[in-house]
Amino acid sequence: TSVEKIKADGFVTMSTNAEFEPFEYKDADNIVGIDIDISNKIAEKLGVKLKINDVAFDSLVAELSTGKTNFVAAGMTADEDRKKNVDFSDTYFDASQSIIVLKGSPIKTRIDLNGKKVGVQQGTTGDSYCTNEKGTSDIKVASTERYNKGVDAISDLLNGKIDAVVIDDFPAKKFVEKNPDKLVKLDEALTVEKYAIAVPKGDKEMLKVVNEVLADLKSSGELDKIIDKYKAA
Ligand code: GLN
Repeated sequence: TSVEKIKADGFVTMSTNAEFEPFEYKDADNIVGIDIDISNKIAEKLGVKLKINDVAFDSLVAELSTGKTNFVAAGMTADEDRKKNVDFSDTYFDASQSIIVLKGSPIKTRIDLNGKKVGVQQGTTGDSYCTNEKGTSDIKVASTERYNKGVDAISDLLNGKIDAVVIDDFPAKKFVEKNPDKLVKLDEALTVEKYAIAVPKGDKEMLKVVNEVLADLKSSGELDKIIDKYKAA
């Protein structure tokens, strides 16, 4: 079984995209963040080491379905489309998509995105919201520019190549904090999303371990402490 193999190997593999501060990002040579702290607790519970695969966000579901990883912790929204291919744990964070623009931009609400060039992270919920993949958005952007790294979208925004960036609220806050004189995050929340950890479809054993760890972190108050630590960082 998956857990027996993990214990025999002495390590558990987690896949992520370490471009999403404060959930996963690089600090010198280390990958750190909220999801890394949670993943370390999962490894601890299994009594093994944590191995991290840092890959593009839009290949994370494939990492699970091709058996390259035991779980994905990547600020990933538990959405219906992904549920066809992976199983999600209990949720651990409430999120939404938000809009970042240059200070003084005429874009003040989501409707102002109509006819504009918007930067998104490839394969994310922000991408599908802006491209109106599901036909449920009430906005019609001129075009979406897709990036593998949120930071590249931000630099194109700063260079005037795009009019706005749509990205998850907590990473958006971090980007704005780094450029407080140039960037603003609008107050409007575009979506209601919940983050969960993904495991291979049908891997009940792994799912159970992950849910036990999340339940412990929630009931002990440890999860709030981890989140607060990265809020301040
Ligand atoms: N929460 C978003 C999604 O699941 C973005 C996650 C990310 O970029 N790491 O699509």
